[in-house]
Amino acid sequence: MFVEHEWILKRAALTPHHIALINLATAEQWTYQQLSEEISKWCQFFQGQQLLKGSRVAVFAKNHIQLFAVLFACGLRGLIYVPLNWRLSKEELAQILEDATPSILLFEEEDTCPIVLDKMFSLHSIQQQKKGSVNKQTMEVDDPWLMIYTGGTTGRPKGVVLSFESVNWNAMNTIISWGLHDKDRTLNYMPMFHTGGLNALCIPLLMAGGTVIIGDKFEAEAALRATNQYETTISLFVPTMYQAMIASKYFQENQFPSMKVFLSGGAPCPHPIYDAFYRKGLFFKEGYGLTEAGPNNFFIAREDAYAKKGAVGKSMQFIEAKIIKPTGHNCAPREVGELLVKGKHMFRFYWNNKEETASIMQDGWLKTGDLAMMDEDGDFFIVGRRKEMIISGGENVYPQEVEQCILQHPDVQEVAVIGIADDYWGEVVTAFIVCHNQVATILDELHDLCHQQLGRFKIPKQILFLEELPKTSVGKIDKKALHMLVDATPC
Ligand code: ATP
Repeated sequence: MFVEHEWILKRAALTPHHIALINLATAEQWTYQQLSEEISKWCQFFQGQQLLKGSRVAVFAKNHIQLFAVLFACGLRGLIYVPLNWRLSKEELAQILEDATPSILLFEEEDTCPIVLDKMFSLHSIQQQKKGSVNKQTMEVDDPWLMIYTGGTTGRPKGVVLSFESVNWNAMNTIISWGLHDKDRTLNYMPMFHTGGLNALCIPLLMAGGTVIIGDKFEAEAALRATNQYETTISLFVPTMYQAMIASKYFQENQFPSMKVFLSGGAPCPHPIYDAFYRKGLFFKEGYGLTEAGPNNFFIAREDAYAKKGAVGKSMQFIEAKIIKPTGHNCAPREVGELLVKGKHMFRFYWNNKEETASIMQDGWLKTGDLAMMDEDGDFFIVGRRKEMIISGGENVYPQEVEQCILQHPDVQEVAVIGIADDYWGEVVTAFIVCHNQVATILDELHDLCHQQLGRFKIPKQILFLEELPKTSVGKIDKKALHMLVDATPC
């Protein structure tokens, strides 16, 4: 019998008294036994609603431990869990609902829920749920469990369908490669409507029997305090969160002795962030992933993470990775090409979008749309998104390389480089910069820095200063929004 959808119940039987989840805002905590009881209440509830296998359960709520109970109950009942990005507009949410056609909507608070469905219930509905027996569902390894709409960094959100096999293999890869176990504790502020708040670390750690502490609204100092208070061991944040952390007094004045590793992911990590952690003797490394594949794909050894700043390492044990040229042939070491990955952790398809699914898959390989290169040791480096590569005067410019160069200036807090259409050059390299202190000489200094390290064609022809950079709902720099800002006033 197929039991891969039941692992959380087995986990609960193995470590019933261990703390599974803590809700940071309310300090509510559940043991694995309590988690399993909450799951069973949701199973009862879904059975009572007579939802058929394959029905979508949409959830509109900020990060909360209750969402894990709903997620696992969906798995046990054969329902597809569809977390909604609560930062989207009513119109964007309506588009997603139209695409996903959920049978039921669960919401946190009625007055903050801008969408309506015939069947909608509060997340607190199950508190009155009576105990009873639940019919077992027959499940296949390929059945969908989770559908996550992508961040939309590069286009319209797509429903990424993950099966039991996809979610479980990502979790197992992560447990094996990162060495997760039941003594590990993570603090998660990544949104739970995104793969970062579900598959990156939380689901794998629950499979391993560890403790997941859920924060809802990120604030750098509070996150660092909680790290010490709850003695967390491994956490994932996006680079913009790390920027705020290293700038905080608490970071500068405290040690984090329980932390085995700080992980960065979701976007390229500025190198000064690595430096700030290593100066304190802390282990910091970068992961790479995407909703469609895991998200976790690579692992870098402790010894190499700092020596090769920016490297994501080698593909995990049960994952294959390669870099190809437009001709389809493999790239030589240090040659830039498109990154392809393959493994059982792969998504199954885009919801209602066969064409997009076919265009991203090639003989079982997933075309990530990201450019990468591999060094002589076989370690991979992410060079940037293929769509964001700039062609200026016929030369390829990778924005990430220019950004890392500019970030070396001590007064630069954040930078984003994009290509702006130009009649003569095709595109001109344009940098948007946020400064800590804007000194009068910064333009000359940036010019010198770029001239020392970059080929002429890579040097930004325009530099625009902003108070802050626009971010997507998961905290990534929003380059689409920057394209609309080209006429911002330079200072
Ligand atoms: P959409 O697919 O709708 O455009 P998105 O790109 O934000 O949204 P995600 O799955 O959230 O979708 O993000 C995956 C992307 O994030 C990767 O394809 C890659 O471009 C980027 N990324 C993730 N980790 C890294 C990293 N360590 N370095 C550079 N880029 C990264």
